[in-house]
Amino acid sequence: MPDADKFAVLIGEEALRRRVIELGSQISKDYQNTPLTLIALLNGSIFFLTDLIRALDIRDLHIECWRISSYCDTYSTGKVTGLEHCRAEVHQRHVLIVDDIYDTGLTLSHVQEHVRTLQPLSIKTCVLLEKKTKHQVLIPVEYVGFTIPDEFVVGYGLDYNGRYRELPDIRIFRSN
Ligand code: 5GP
Ligand code: MG
Repeated sequence: MPDADKFAVLIGEEALRRRVIELGSQISKDYQNTPLTLIALLNGSIFFLTDLIRALDIRDLHIECWRISSYCDTYSTGKVTGLEHCRAEVHQRHVLIVDDIYDTGLTLSHVQEHVRTLQPLSIKTCVLLEKKTKHQVLIPVEYVGFTIPDEFVVGYGLDYNGRYRELPDIRIFRSN
C-alpha cells in the first residue's frame, strides 16, 4: 500500500476544525431546548462525531453509534449491511443522523428509512463531506461540512480497506 505522505491534502486540520465548530454552533442553535439524539454511522464518522459533539451546546443530548457498511475497496456496493440490528430509543425525541460522506446516497437513504420506522419527532442528516456528482438517490441532507470533487478520500476517520483512518486531515487517495 502507498505511503500516506504521497497523498495530496484536500482539507487541512485547521479548516476541518473551523468548519466543525461552525456546524456545531448551527446545530446547537437549531436544537436549543429540544431533546436530540445523534445517531452516528461508524466507522467513517468517528473523528467527525467526536469533534462535533465537543462543539455542541445542547442540554438534552443522547448519542447512539450504529455500525453499518456498504463499501468495498473504493466503490459503494449499494447494499447496506447491519441495519437490522440498529436500535435507538427516540420516542418524543428529534434525531440527527451523522455520517462521513453523502456519496451515492444509498447508505443514507436506507438509514433514513430505518430511522423513520422508529418514529422520532423529526429526522435531519449531517455529513462532513458531499460528492455532488455521484448521487444516485436524492435525499434531504440539512448540514454539509464541505462539498468535494469526485475523488476517493481518506483520513480523519475515512479509510481505504481499513487503512489511513488515523490521518488528521482529508487526503486524496491514489492507489499508485
Ligand atoms: P454512499 O452510500 O453514499 O455511496 O456511501 C456512503 C459511504 O461510502 C460513506 O459513509 C463512506 O463510508 C463511503 N465512502 C464514500 N465515498 C468515500 C470516499 O471517498 N472515501 C472513503 N474512505 N469512503 C467513502
Ligand atoms: Mg460510512
